[in-house]
Amino acid sequence: TRRPAANSVIRPDFKFEDMGIGGLDKEFSDIFRRAFASRVFPPGLAEKVGIQHVRGILLFGPPGTGKTLIARQIGKMLNAREPKVINGPEVLNKYVGQSEENIRKLFADAEKEQKEKGDESGLHIIIFDELDAVCKQRGSGAGGGTGVGDSVVNQLLSKLDGVDQLNNILLIGMTNRKDMIDEALLRPGRLEVHMEISLPDEFGRQQILKIHTAKARENGRLAADVSLEELARETRNFSGAEIQGLIRSATSFALQRHVKGGTVAALSDDVVDMQIRMEDFLRALEEVHPLFGVSEEDLD
Ligand code: ATP
Repeated sequence: TRRPAANSVIRPDFKFEDMGIGGLDKEFSDIFRRAFASRVFPPGLAEKVGIQHVRGILLFGPPGTGKTLIARQIGKMLNAREPKVINGPEVLNKYVGQSEENIRKLFADAEKEQKEKGDESGLHIIIFDELDAVCKQRGSGAGGGTGVGDSVVNQLLSKLDGVDQLNNILLIGMTNRKDMIDEALLRPGRLEVHMEISLPDEFGRQQILKIHTAKARENGRLAADVSLEELARETRNFSGAEIQGLIRSATSFALQRHVKGGTVAALSDDVVDMQIRMEDFLRALEEVHPLFGVSEEDLD
């Protein structure tokens, strides 16, 4: 079967509501417009009318706010391949030379396909998580560091603006610390679109709560007294990932009601009717707290 081209149109069956992303409508459509819209042109046409694709974007903001989620979902929407993920700290832990080799390999598939298929090549998304980790070291090579960060950044730069420019690659850098990112990486032609993904506001939190309790609700496991509106109000400064943590904590309290005779392993038979109640969420709120950040509401 032939894979869809890099410039192929958006999958018609895809709807934003189905993507499981809460409260990032604006960010999603901005990222789409700036980094992906040019990719929906049919093969060859973009080049014909002189459209240049953006080859790199930087998503920044607190941890657990959905940066990876957005990147993956946009890729899916465009029928791109499963993104390949590089992790900054991991790269640094590799032997000198090993990380360059790994990165070279990541780009190699895209390069090969571009050579073979030209405009028809599929879009390859490379996610570089915790990109700041390799930047911190840059310039410190001579001073006793391993210099791995330096050479990784240099390698990324050469891949992004090398002589054989690749049209079928989108590099998505992610970081919690935009200020740590090497400026050389942020120039036009490189990671040129910078998008902040911040903590969700109350409406966003309610959507995230809704998304991550959908299954429980479907299966009748969410008690009628659970108010997502109230929980959204009570979870100021929570990231999406932390909201998921809150739901896991509430679920554990619900499960606990069904433990028989105090032994952890023995669940009573009525566990099949287990329901998560508002009281479980309220207890969860006492033990799950947001780690980072100031939400927009706090800035008001
Ligand atoms: P990090 O900076 O730590 O890599 P991230 O911003 O990439 O974090 P994700 O990995 O996208 O965060 O989010 C972690 C998980 O939290 C997601 O898999 C998802 O389940 C949940 N989550 C985070 N934000 C949202 C959101 N806006 N809508 C729905 N789920 C979310």
